[in-house]
Amino acid sequence: MLTAQQALDHLLSHAKAVAESESIPMQAALGRVLAKNVDSLVDVPPLDNTSMDGYAVRTADLQNSGSILKIAQRIPAGSVGTQLESGTVARIFTGAPVPLGADAVVMQEDCSIPEGSTDQVQVNVMPLVGQWIRRRGEDLKAGKTALTAGTFLRPQELGVAASAGLTHLNVKRRVKVAAFFTGDELSLPGEPLKPGGIYNSNRDTLLACLKSLGCDATDFGIVPDKLNATKETLRKASKDHDLIITSGGVSVGEEDHIKPAVMAEGRLDLWQIAIKPGKPLAFGAVRKSVDPTDGETWFIGLPGNPVSSFVTFLLFVRPFILKLQGREAGQAQSYFMRADFDWLKVDRRNEFLRVKLNSSGGLDLFPNQSSGVLTSASWGDGLVDCPPNQAIKAGDLVKYIPFDALLK
Ligand code: AMP
Ligand code: MG
Repeated sequence: MLTAQQALDHLLSHAKAVAESESIPMQAALGRVLAKNVDSLVDVPPLDNTSMDGYAVRTADLQNSGSILKIAQRIPAGSVGTQLESGTVARIFTGAPVPLGADAVVMQEDCSIPEGSTDQVQVNVMPLVGQWIRRRGEDLKAGKTALTAGTFLRPQELGVAASAGLTHLNVKRRVKVAAFFTGDELSLPGEPLKPGGIYNSNRDTLLACLKSLGCDATDFGIVPDKLNATKETLRKASKDHDLIITSGGVSVGEEDHIKPAVMAEGRLDLWQIAIKPGKPLAFGAVRKSVDPTDGETWFIGLPGNPVSSFVTFLLFVRPFILKLQGREAGQAQSYFMRADFDWLKVDRRNEFLRVKLNSSGGLDLFPNQSSGVLTSASWGDGLVDCPPNQAIKAGDLVKYIPFDALLK
């Protein structure tokens, strides 16, 4: 049996980023991956500007609090003042450029207007040099890298690119993934259940996982437990996709056809990974056509049990896809958190337990950890990565991986 890390290292040693990229408008770029560095077209902010409504001053003019100075100019945001003469101040509003000569801003709450005056202000609190001034280029510098290639674009990255002056971004093309679901017992919701049948839940879970990661997903539907049907679907799915994923049929029983089908259409390793839920995982590639120069499409076969296929997707398929996308495939974020439960049934395998954050900052365990009980994942906020042969006692610090960190 392989450890989870060995399996992951092996997978990642094969994955290479897709080469193609495209330039798209910023509004379409959410969830895409930058193909090229973004260099800022401008300094941000473009000039020293004030972060407060108040008065731009020369601190040297202010010997003591209570000094009264002449308001010589008014600078709203979007306009530029003139050189600040000695002995004067500028009325200034948030976002407006600080005039030349000024070296601090006094917020209006720290000033008062002398009785009867219309063009004077009394400064009641002595300013520090530089206070309330945002410096030119303190956020971004013209010509310098604002975002690096390989960055997954979240709302805040789109904002940074916009502040740098860009309208379009050069992004990797979407990774194309085909999915199908093996099992004679499966029906789609909306269809009548067969005797002894169940609904295909992996379809919705896995297609949504792919969507969350920004992939183009193609659903090749339910495939019966027949060798020829499996081979035929593999041949179709290999066209125009980077990766094929399947659920079910990866054991080596008489009704499990994934292994012989992929071996006939390409190559395959069937791994036993020492994890729970999970265990069997198939990794290989399917020829795109009879002509070997047409290349191959990667193949990952997940186990059929709904929690197993979800967890193995998150642990193995996700990092593989991240690498195809050209993203940094670092470890998913994890945190050491307090277990508010006992888990005394130690297992030789590395277990991934479905847990929920509680209001006292600890983790609660879903009582039924069966790999068929998908409500455990829906109730849960994430997984506890429990090492082999290790019991957990309430109060122990455990490694917690939030689902949120695994679905982006
Ligand atoms: P298998 O890996 O094909 O041996 O399936 C293991 C278990 O997962 C069986 O109980 C299957 O009925 C169930 N299963 C397989 N595929 C799905 C699916 N798409 N949706 C829900 N359950 C499934
Ligand atoms: Mg099956």
